[in-house]
Amino acid sequence: MAKSVIVTGASQGIGACIAKKLAEDGYNVAVNCYPSENDRANAEKVAEECRAFGVEAEVFEADVSKYDQCENMVKAVKEKFGTIDALVNNAGITKDGLLARMSEEQYDTVIAVNQKSVFNMTKHVCAVMMKQKYGAIVNMASVAGLYGNPGQMNYSASKAAIIGMTMTAAKEYGSRNIRVNAVAPGLIKTPMTDVLTDEQKNKIFGQIALKRFGEVSEIASTVSFLLSDGAAYITGQTIEISGGLSM
Ligand code: NAP
Repeated sequence: MAKSVIVTGASQGIGACIAKKLAEDGYNVAVNCYPSENDRANAEKVAEECRAFGVEAEVFEADVSKYDQCENMVKAVKEKFGTIDALVNNAGITKDGLLARMSEEQYDTVIAVNQKSVFNMTKHVCAVMMKQKYGAIVNMASVAGLYGNPGQMNYSASKAAIIGMTMTAAKEYGSRNIRVNAVAPGLIKTPMTDVLTDEQKNKIFGQIALKRFGEVSEIASTVSFLLSDGAAYITGQTIEISGGLSM
């Protein structure tokens, strides 16, 4: 039977690229998206592109900050694919602002979507993986969680927490042959970074050894490796994918 994976927040960006890469690797893919018409339409396109690799792919709507919605989604994926061999906790948001001006709502929302979602998904997926005595998970951290970033008290808190959660889950589930790792991307080429001026980019490149932004495919290839048997003795680790930022 083909292996199956859930990728959260896979309707666009890094998550969509990871979903397609894992389809290419031969996984049946559960393409999670936030429950909205627009996200559903984008996620359906991602699922179609996954199916082009000859695997099964289906869209599963769930707001991953909500415990019950995660529980229901995990049940539905298990019913559809029979197993859940891998999980990529990718969904994430930013609500930036300097601490002096950051509202409680800005803080709580980012923590709920970025951090609590990892609790919600990992708990339910690991219950399935424990019975299988097999599983691999990759969590999406960020360099903001390793080094901090002005204007991102909420985001860096959520991403630093994910690194701790990764090590805790790795220790709790290691004896059940479930591996849990994280990746910490730096600045990745997305619509967000495309709008920067050449002057802004050159300033940032000054701090990056490779003098360029990363590509989404470079995140997806590392996630693919960490989920593969090639990484069978790697767990509890956070791999920075930042072109050598902050060395
Ligand atoms: P993106 O394009 O905004 O994609 C994030 C995805 O998560 C979107 O599809 C989004 O849906 C979804 N999402 C948000 N809240 C959700 C929820 N409650 N339930 C389910 N899905 C939800 O961002 P990205 O740049 O690809 O980022 C992906 C991950 O990488 C995030 O965890 C981010 O923090 C991390 N990261 C990105 C960078 C970077 O440079 N881009 C760097 C470091 C880390 P909506 O569109 O509806 O919000």
